[in-house]
Amino acid sequence: MVSSRSHKLSVREWVPLAPLHTFASHGQARAHVELISQEQLSELSAQYTAWPQPVWVLGSGSNVVFADDFPGTLVINQLKGRHCLQEDQATGTAIWRVCAGEQWHDWVAASVAAGWSGLENLALIPGTVGAAPIQNIGAYGVELSQVCVGVSAWHLPSGRMQYFDRAACAFAYRDSFFKRAAEKGHWLIVSVDFRLSRTFQAQLTYPALRDYPEPLTDAQAVFDAVCQIRQSKLPDPSVLPNAGSFFKNPIVSKTVAERLRQVLPDLPMYPVASSSGSAKLSAAYLIEQAGLKGFNWAEVGVYGQHALVLVRHQPGTGRAVLELTHHIQHLVQERFEVALEPEPLIWEGPSEL
Ligand code: FAD
Ligand code: NAP
Repeated sequence: MVSSRSHKLSVREWVPLAPLHTFASHGQARAHVELISQEQLSELSAQYTAWPQPVWVLGSGSNVVFADDFPGTLVINQLKGRHCLQEDQATGTAIWRVCAGEQWHDWVAASVAAGWSGLENLALIPGTVGAAPIQNIGAYGVELSQVCVGVSAWHLPSGRMQYFDRAACAFAYRDSFFKRAAEKGHWLIVSVDFRLSRTFQAQLTYPALRDYPEPLTDAQAVFDAVCQIRQSKLPDPSVLPNAGSFFKNPIVSKTVAERLRQVLPDLPMYPVASSSGSAKLSAAYLIEQAGLKGFNWAEVGVYGQHALVLVRHQPGTGRAVLELTHHIQHLVQERFEVALEPEPLIWEGPSEL
């Protein structure tokens, strides 16, 4: 159930950033507030203009980069609880409401173990449920948008709750209404509604699942396979700090795709359902072809086993991450005339204020 604990907001000042995000850059946040009950939302809004600005909502910090000290307020979402809103025995479907501070993977594991299908391809994605709609998380051919029916969000500046159905969320590839610049920091996602099914619908188009050596005949088998594949490919942020895929796969026009096919005949390209003729390119391949796989820059680098992941080898600030980001973007642009857009939210420094 949704937590109803009443608790006055407690603010901490000048809090270390490293434990708050998986890239673990050194630095400090001016103010830090933990949100543990929905009753605190009104207080959060009443004091909104008094908080050091900007105000950013964070979950587990697995998709953010701090290149500098953060002069604003970080609101850490810890709203817990999940419950079934309605179950339809005839269709074998149910709608579940899950609070934003729940850990995503725990929710996926619990739903699959309880016999529900829909989330199994999204196993082992770090972070919270509330962050999942922000970039419409996706993996192995499934996106959150396929199972999300709506989002309850609190408008921080005005102090009101609003329900966004799927259309209002404006989900797109690694994007949503909430990720857009104008809305950044204004909406705090409180809970997410999911439609799950008792019927397993296999989505096994990605090579790692299609060619999996064991039969994947139910949601639990897919869940287990995804966990196994991810653990073998991706660096564990607690061992090698990182933010997952650092760049989005670029979506380009047919003309650009044809030009690139001439210079890079093996460049992986995938059709984009929402935009006929466009192609989604592999950013990892472009970075690798630019000679950057395994490339190190100060205390950070491009992961040797996966060119899309930037990692931290040594403790340090986030400045080197930003420099490496610019270096990669510059080289890929120069070599292939393709713009790479970072996936994580990046705090570059006070010039953003
Ligand atoms: P944070 O990093 O804390 O925040 C991310 C963004 O969401 C920020 O803009 C923040 O302001 C906003 N936000 C967070 N919570 C809220 C809220 N309640 N209300 C409003 N705004 C909020 N992503 C994928 O899509 N697919 C993957 O397969 C995947 N794999 C990953 C693997 C690794 C090893 C890592 C480190 C990351 C991976 N990611 C992946 C990225 C990341 O896990 C997801 O984007 C995740 O949803 C972020 O959750 P978080 O709680 O850590 O969000
Ligand atoms: P992969 O399976 O080796 O595939 C490489 C790239 O090709 C992926 O980026 C994927 O795009 C694309 N792709 C592969 N098969 C496709 C198909 N049938 N249709 C359309 N696109 C296809 O990728 P990986 O790096 O091991 O990651 C596996 C999955 O986990 C991917 O979906 C990836 O997005 C996700 N992941 C995401 C993050 C993150 O931080 N965002 C981190 C790790 C893994 P897409 O990326 O668009 O799916």
